Amino acid sequence: MKWPPQGRSQVQLGNEEKDIDSSDLSKGRFGSLLLSMPPGRILISQAKLRARVRELGVTISRHYRRHLPPGEKPLFLGVMNGALFFFTDLLRAVDLDDVEISTLRVSSYAGTQSAGTLRGLKALGDSFNGRHVLIVDDILDTGLTLSALVTRLKELGAADVKTCILLEKRRKHDVPIKPDWLGFKIEDEFVVGYGLDLDGKYRALKQIRVLKTPDQ
Ligand code: 5GP
Ligand code: MG
Repeated sequence: MKWPPQGRSQVQLGNEEKDIDSSDLSKGRFGSLLLSMPPGRILISQAKLRARVRELGVTISRHYRRHLPPGEKPLFLGVMNGALFFFTDLLRAVDLDDVEISTLRVSSYAGTQSAGTLRGLKALGDSFNGRHVLIVDDILDTGLTLSALVTRLKELGAADVKTCILLEKRRKHDVPIKPDWLGFKIEDEFVVGYGLDLDGKYRALKQIRVLKTPDQ
């Protein structure tokens, strides 16, 4: 993003979203706050994320209370790093007697078409045998990551594999897959924040933001 930013931009002040203009900057009206102004426009605010995650927590808790065999506890598996915030917020929103928590890291090689070339999957041991696993991930784009992970967990003997994904892009996934629980459907745009990064940047933003494309 250009500095200073040109035209109008959105910032969040407390719980309020404000539209500010680059001319406000030169007048110093927002002071040092704008020195750390995040990029792009807010797609999903912190309040909306919170509310939706709370709903998902209620729905998922109800599901596992009804469907788990007696004596079983579910294994919630967060896909790092993207699902970092979503996973921990969801865990706080879930109300179950006992949940086992684990994380893993997978990343698809850039440009690959094959579900067989995901890193991180081989390292999964046999701790999934007979388990009821909930995969929690940030975003469904091509579908490659999620479908490879579901397939692998089933190969490793998981009794049940469900998926809870924060965002799903409105596009035809290369691998057909539908999350069991979804936070939000979004347009096919590149988003950052709330765990999602661009080359390691913007992960810590509190909202989901759309980065401006070069032609905007
Ligand atoms: P898929 O395997 O479904 O194509 O993509 C999954 C992974 O690609 C996500 O977990 C995420 O790490 C990355 N990804 C896909 N779309 C976006 C996006 O719009 N923004 C960011 N920051 N990462 C994305
Ligand atoms: Mg991911």
